[in-house]
Amino acid sequence: MKRILIVEDDAALSRGIAFAFRRDGYETVAASTARQARDILEAEAVDIILLDVGLPDGDGMDLCQQLRARSDTPVIMLTARDMETDVVSGLLAGADDYVTKPFSLSILRARVEALLRRAAPDRQGGIRSGPFRLDTRLCRLYRGEEEIPVSATEYRLLAYLMTNAGQVLTKEQILAEAWDANGLFVDENTLQVNISRLRAKIEPDPRRPQVIKTVHGMGYMWNGGR
Ligand code: CA
Repeated sequence: MKRILIVEDDAALSRGIAFAFRRDGYETVAASTARQARDILEAEAVDIILLDVGLPDGDGMDLCQQLRARSDTPVIMLTARDMETDVVSGLLAGADDYVTKPFSLSILRARVEALLRRAAPDRQGGIRSGPFRLDTRLCRLYRGEEEIPVSATEYRLLAYLMTNAGQVLTKEQILAEAWDANGLFVDENTLQVNISRLRAKIEPDPRRPQVIKTVHGMGYMWNGGR
């Protein structure tokens, strides 16, 4: 059974979220302050964290940064502030996703399920697929023992493709996830250039790509093996 930590000081909202997820078969544990959340995380493991941005004893984003320093547990920020800069700094603090209040519980549930479905990084801090291993701590790609050098943009692309292995990802989805070293979103041309470079590095025959497959009219799919 998956355990969700709900960090929210609005008691009614916290109860509402807990009620909805328990009904769906999740276990929930609640904290109303950053300090309580830290105590819970010292004592027990959770699968995902829902984290309010504004807590009575601190900023949820600071807590998120502290969590990130020592764990890969997915974090969804619950934010009442929908300004662009806040969203960006939330994601920079290491959150995996965010929802803006007021949100519907069905949207929150969908986001939670999507994050839990993503391939869990293994204990070495990497995503494995066939001969490939993406080290998500050092941001490096390996084939067996050999490191294959990749750029920051190529790494982000790989992380997104490999995390969603076996799923067709549309260009729009990929473009929304991939940005370059300067934090700029890439355009479709840049995406194609980066896919070609990656293929040249990892495909046995780059002219007939099998690892990063093109799904015509749709997008791309990672097919590197289990
Ligand atoms: Ca709050």
